[in-house]
Formats: sequence, structure tokens, C-alpha cells
Amino acid sequence: MTSANSAHPTVILQIAVNGPLPRLFDYLPPVGIDKQQLQPGVRLSVPFGRNERLGILLGLSSHTDVPLKRLKPATRLLDEAPLFPADLLKLLRWAASYYHYPIGQVLQTALPTLLNQGEAAQLPTLPGWQLTAEGQAFDLNSLSKRAHRQQALLKFLHQCSDHAASQATINQHFPNSYTSLKSLQKKAWIEACRIDKIFHLNLSPETSLNLNAAQAEAVQTVCKHLSSFRAFLLDGVTGSGKTEVYLQIIQEVINQGRQALVLVPEINLTPQMLTRFERRFSQPIAILHSKLTDNERLSAWLMAQQGTAAIVIGTRSAAWTPLARPGVLIIDEEHDASYKQQGGFQYSARDLTVMRAHYANIPVVLGSATPALDSLFNVQRGRYQCLRLTERAGTAIHPDFRVIDLRRYQPQEGLSQPLLKAIQTRLDAQQQALVYINRRGFAPTLMCHQCGWVAECQHCTARQTYHDTDNRLHCHHCGAEQSLPAVCPQCQSVRLRRLGYGTERIEQALRGLFPTARILRIDSDSTSGKHAMQQILERIHEGEVDILVGTQMLTKGHHFPKVTLVGVVNLDGGLFGVDFRASERLAQSLVQVAGRAGRADLRGEVLLQTYHPEHPLLQALLERGYNAFANNALEERQQTCLPPHTYLALLRVEAKQEAALNHFLQQAYAQAEAQIAQQGLENVEILGPIPAPLERRANFYRAQLLCQAHQRSHLQALLQHWVIDLNTLSTAKGLRWSLDVDPQNLF
Ligand code: ADP
Ligand code: ZN
Ligand code: ZN
Repeated sequence: MTSANSAHPTVILQIAVNGPLPRLFDYLPPVGIDKQQLQPGVRLSVPFGRNERLGILLGLSSHTDVPLKRLKPATRLLDEAPLFPADLLKLLRWAASYYHYPIGQVLQTALPTLLNQGEAAQLPTLPGWQLTAEGQAFDLNSLSKRAHRQQALLKFLHQCSDHAASQATINQHFPNSYTSLKSLQKKAWIEACRIDKIFHLNLSPETSLNLNAAQAEAVQTVCKHLSSFRAFLLDGVTGSGKTEVYLQIIQEVINQGRQALVLVPEINLTPQMLTRFERRFSQPIAILHSKLTDNERLSAWLMAQQGTAAIVIGTRSAAWTPLARPGVLIIDEEHDASYKQQGGFQYSARDLTVMRAHYANIPVVLGSATPALDSLFNVQRGRYQCLRLTERAGTAIHPDFRVIDLRRYQPQEGLSQPLLKAIQTRLDAQQQALVYINRRGFAPTLMCHQCGWVAECQHCTARQTYHDTDNRLHCHHCGAEQSLPAVCPQCQSVRLRRLGYGTERIEQALRGLFPTARILRIDSDSTSGKHAMQQILERIHEGEVDILVGTQMLTKGHHFPKVTLVGVVNLDGGLFGVDFRASERLAQSLVQVAGRAGRADLRGEVLLQTYHPEHPLLQALLERGYNAFANNALEERQQTCLPPHTYLALLRVEAKQEAALNHFLQQAYAQAEAQIAQQGLENVEILGPIPAPLERRANFYRAQLLCQAHQRSHLQALLQHWVIDLNTLSTAKGLRWSLDVDPQNLF
């Protein structure tokens, strides 16, 4: 026998096997399959241990370090053609090495569940509804006015190709339409069916708007560079016409026969944006978000992969969707924290989309009214080209900002006189007011006035929040809840006080002060139902609401044309937050929430309540705008050696036992220091162990090590070896660790 390791004629398959496996595995081709069929990107079933697992072919080689005798053939080839094109395979491998996450799990993240389970890559049929002959003949105008929902559904189906639409599409346009559909079915105007063809609407297409000068320049600049990589930052205030710029770039891309991928922070919060896309383009649009069924997701994914969808719109995980003919990648609200996955595979969809554009050699457009400091820094360094839209499109005007000094105007139940007066003015004028407070529940603290006892979660180092709707105490970190104690558990006093403000308390106060106003609260408690958010939005748009009270949710993507007043109950938490990004986040949410006001022809006003009106950050933001604030903040980050001037990675560790936690951290620290010394990475510093701001959560003790470097390559050099070392450490039962590269939150 000759040595198995010398050159031999056999083809070796390098396969990423599903699971937490950090490397590729070598296999022989399945019996009877010839080389032409084995292209990178196809799925194979392979023997692994005692089981069969799914894997993806990433490369072919003539060499292997495994003795040939021990190599096994793959069992079965699952795909005739690659599921991922070459540029995306490159991206997946890059992501695995950059985020130091097992390649097998990276690929699992990128595939729809059904494909991970080995199902065929074929368009599934989806449940849907179609018009019957009777329904088609029916005169829409003869329906009674009261049945306007049924009428709208019939009209919608009339506009669909083949008079049919999938349940997913109907849900998107008509949330909560189940009863109406059932009534229409009873009348025999519609019937259930299976949809196999790609759906599209035959709406009379809406024509593009005439661009203003800044918009036109932005569109032209991007369209001039459609055949090579370039990153653009589209920096324009809310309402300045960014979406219109996307639409017209996409139009050009479609004219060239190519596809566009659009990432948005939250699909269910932006139904208007989807409608706008559907009105503008007659081509099929694939929509990907977390609420799809497995079949719906597979269908949308394959439409993108096969090239039948001209446009793909989706949230974070849609960043992995393959495109047959990629033309442009767009990231709307690029500053939004939801682009970063928390826990598990902690990738940044924004950052990897820029990398993807590079591999695909196409432009990427990052749009925001409040760009992330990281992105502005990339503009400063010449990596991104900045396109500015400085004015609001159409007729809307910038809102006026006014600071209310709470030291002067003592608030009652959180609300100062000037704010209450301004709300009254809006009510008199039949306009809408929005009151923003970034905390849900009634009061964040329950305290005994007799002995100072404070209600804390038994499982976390955190206070419990009192919720009035169920009269219970909730922990916002682990979800545990309990009933409200009648007396102080420490001193039996009945003097329990609810301190601080949340959305429920502000809502209640407003109801007392404005008894005839129609008030609506919007937070994750009030919108948890499947279609609750859409219903709420409908009510607001139909003018059935006078005052909106809500959290962060209100700052995202909505257009509220009748809102002319925004009141911010208290912004001081953001001024003194523990995380170094707290001030950036605060500035972004203030500008974003302000952008909800005065969108149409009505002038908007923003009132900010604070005990610190002289705070320099607030001053910079209000007097000179977001970009001036951002420049100040970037300088401050340089002085303090924080991102984007340095690069961070965070090792998070949590354990049931405090001793096990500390033991692990000490070892991990020593390993990192050893790597730094060995590789001569003087630029890299390890800070910690630091207890996490929330030292215990859901019964786990938590702490972390922070790695900070002046060069990305040095940080990567450390992590690459450190991860291997970390994997060798024995972990006590109940100990978990994860590595977060470019963390967005330091907890
Ligand atoms: P953004 O995405 O920056 O918030 P949009 O593209 O949604 O802005 O535009 C805000 C509003 O202005 C929309 O109602 C849109 O129809 C309108 N608009 C945008 N561009 C123009 C234009 N060139 N002429 C007239 N109206 C415009
Ligand atoms: Zn007490
Ligand atoms: Zn808790």
C-alpha cells in the first residue's frame, strides 16, 4: 500500500457539518456521483459519529490529512444545484472566522429550517384564498358599507394575479381578517386553495416622484456605480425622502435585470413601507421576517435564490438570503440596534452586508437620519461615501425643540405644566400628541416608606417593576412575576410606595387630566398580540386617537401625519447611562421620535423634560444638530480610546455557582495574557474580570472580560487562538460562555 497522504486521484469533499463544529470535515464523494455534480454550495447527507447529519459542500481538494482508509463517502447528494452562490459562501466563511463561531452553525443560521431538515429545495405550495366564479362576477359596490373589510378583501383578490393570494400575503395586507374571510367563504365568493405560483399584485403602478436636487444627486451617484463595490451612507433627516431614493435606485437595478435586497429593523412596524414598494413595482417581492411559517419562509427564500423575486425585503436574518443576480444592497435605519444578533451567533447584519457587497462587487447603501458613530467614522476615513439629504421632501418642516427644566416646573405625575398646556392646545386643534417614555409598566420601583425595603427579583440583581394592568410585580430581565405584597415583607408596614414612572402611569395620569381625550398606550405589553400593532396603527391613522403614550417602539419607522407634538417625559436616564453608547442611543431616539412630528403640512414641536438642561450633549444636539453631536461624541471616544477608534470583543460568562464563574474567568484571563505575550500583541489589552451591570440574571451569576485593541488585526489574532484555548477549558456544570465581537452592549 502507498501512503494515503501522498497525492492521489481521489476527490476529497470539504464539508461543513451542521452543528457546533468549528472546522470542516473531509469525505469522499457519494457512490455513483461524479465530480461535475459536486459544486460548492450543495447539501449532502454524511455519516457523522453514529448518525447521519446534513452538511454543505464548501470546497474540493485532492489532499487530505486523514488516512484514506478512514475517509467515509458521503451518503447522499441532496441538491442538483448549489443553494448558495460563490459570493455568499465566501461571506459565510468570512463570518465564521470573524465572529469566531462554528461554521456548521453559521450555515444553519443562513438556511431556512426546512432546508436544514433536509427537505427538497422546491417551492412549496402555500395555503391561500381565491375568488370563485361567483366572486369574480360579483359587483363590489353592492356590498353594504358595514362590510367594508370584506369588500376590501374582494377588491384585493381581484387585483391579484389569478385572483388568488396566499394567507401570508393576506395577513400582511389585512391583519385579523380571519372572520371576514370565513364570511366570504360562506357566501361562496371565495374558496380555500393552494398557491404554487409566485404571487404579485396587478395594481396600477404608482409613478415615481420628481426628485429634489439632493435626492437626484444621491440616486445618480449610486446608479453610476452599480457594477462595482462601493459603500454609501445616505444621511437624511426623517422625511427627507430616503425611501424615495431607495425606490429609484432599485428601479434602475430592476431595469438591468438584477435584484435588490432591502434590510429593515422590524417588518411588523413598517407596513406602510411595504405597501409603498408593492405600489411602485409590478415585480414580485419576497418578504422575510420572523413571523413566517416554515413553508412561507422557504418559499420567499427560494424566490430570492432562484431570481424570481426582484426585491427581497427582510429583517436581520434576511442578510443571508442568496440572490441569483445581486444588484444593490440597502440597509434602512442602519443605526438600529436590532441589526446585531444578541446571544448565539452574534453577527451584525449591517457589517456583514457591507462585506457581502464587497464580495458581490455591488454597491451597498446605508440609510439613516441618525447614522451610527461607527458609520460616520467610516465616512471620515473615506471608506463610505456620504450622500446628504438636508431638507425634508415635500412640504413638511423641521420640528422645533424646546427644553423644559424640571427644576423650575415641578412635574405632577411626571408631567410638567408646559407639556400639559401644549397637549391641551393640540386637543383643541384636533391634532395628535405623542408622549414618549422609555419604560413600560407603571412604576420601576416599589419601596417601603417605613424601612426602605425595595422589591427585588429573587433571580436577578434587579428591582421589580410594578404593573397596574395586572396589579403584579414583574422582573423585566427574567420575566418572573408575583403578586403585590399587601404589607412590607420586612417591617409589615402598609406604607408601600410606587416610585418612578412607566408608560402605564403616564397613561393613567393623562386619563385623569384629559378625561375626554382618546388615549392609546403603545409598548411591548399592549402590542403583544399577533396583529395588535397593525390595529393600533390603523386606529392612529384613522384619527381615532388623540394622545399616544409609548416607548421606543414609537420611534421606529412610522409616519404619523397628524402628530404635531412630541413630549419626552424624562431623558435623564440616557444622559448618565452606564454603557459608553448610552448618549449615542439617546441622541438617536430623540431625533427619531422628533421625526414623528409634523410630517405633513402641520408644524411640529418637541418638548424635552429634563433636570439637566445644561448638559453639554443635550446642548450640542439641540443647538447644532445630530451631526455636531456625533462629531463631539467621536472626539470624546478618541480621547477615551473607545470604538470606533478602538476594537472590542467581550467574553461573557455566566454560571450557577459564583466560584465556578471566577475560576473560569481567571483561567481565561491567563490564557489571553499568554497569547498576547506569545504573539507580541502589545496593542491588545484585557480588562476584567468585571461583574456585568446585572450581576445575576435568572439565577446565573454573570461577569465578563473585555478585550480592547487599537488594530482590528491584532484583536483577531488574539481571538483566533484564544477561542481554541477557551474550548479546552473544562467548564463546570451550568457554566456558559460566549464571545461577542464588536459588542453593541457592554453587559
Ligand atoms: P424618509 O424615508 O427619509 O423618511 P420618505 O421617502 O418616506 O422619507 O419621504 C417622506 C415623504 O415625502 C413621503 O410622504 C414621500 O412621499 C414624500 N416625498 C419624498 N420625496 C419626494 C419628492 N421628491 N417630492 C415630493 N414628495 C416627496
Ligand atoms: Zn418596610
Ligand atoms: Zn428577574
